[in-house]
Amino acid sequence: LGGGGDFYDIAFKVMLVGDSGVGKTCLLVRFKDGAFLAGTFISTVGIDFRNKVLDVDGMKVKLQIWDTAGQERFRSVTHAYYRDAHALLLLFDVTNKASFDNIQAWLTEIQEYAQNDVVLMLLGNKVDSAQERVVKREDGEKLAKEYGLPYMETSAKTGVNVDLAFTAIAKELKQRIMKVPSEPHFRLHDYVKRQGRGPFCCQS
Ligand code: GDP
Ligand code: MG
Repeated sequence: LGGGGDFYDIAFKVMLVGDSGVGKTCLLVRFKDGAFLAGTFISTVGIDFRNKVLDVDGMKVKLQIWDTAGQERFRSVTHAYYRDAHALLLLFDVTNKASFDNIQAWLTEIQEYAQNDVVLMLLGNKVDSAQERVVKREDGEKLAKEYGLPYMETSAKTGVNVDLAFTAIAKELKQRIMKVPSEPHFRLHDYVKRQGRGPFCCQS
């Protein structure tokens, strides 16, 4: 229909995390608006979200995507938000080694504050910048494998793999919901509460 209305069957909260400058805001803008505003400084004050409804095998899955900022400096700000997140996209910048080295610290945070069964995916962003690239694909894959995470390489600039990453998250979330028996209209909140202490990572 393309009406752009906000009809959906099920909704999830997805949070973007990672060092400042890795491209979280740009990734969200790319996914939501299909645009990349080169050189434009998009400041995110505290925490902000955008909604997008995806069709996942005939089901309308709404992702409420939370863009975090400043938590790199004021980490405590987002701790409360971790608890509510159904999925986390953890980003580093393939042109910035420090952002890759910090992934371990982010995972420690996540293990401490997020739901144990949170759907988690590691993203290496800015793969369009081949010249400046310092983190190899194999390095990203190796780290992801160590933690049992799916890994994808994205570019908010060209859009490569951006829709794919969010769709993969939506599919994984939907599949998990489908495993919960016979309650068509249960609340996600209850779903999350009802989950036992499952595996830390998504199995993909
Ligand atoms: P955030 O702090 O994680 O939200 O990062 P931003 O989204 O604000 O992006 C930080 C900088 O990286 C900006 O100058 C963006 O233009 C740039 N940037 C973000 N994503 C990409 C990308 O995929 N490729 C390239 N080349 N630059 C990017
Ligand atoms: Mg930002």
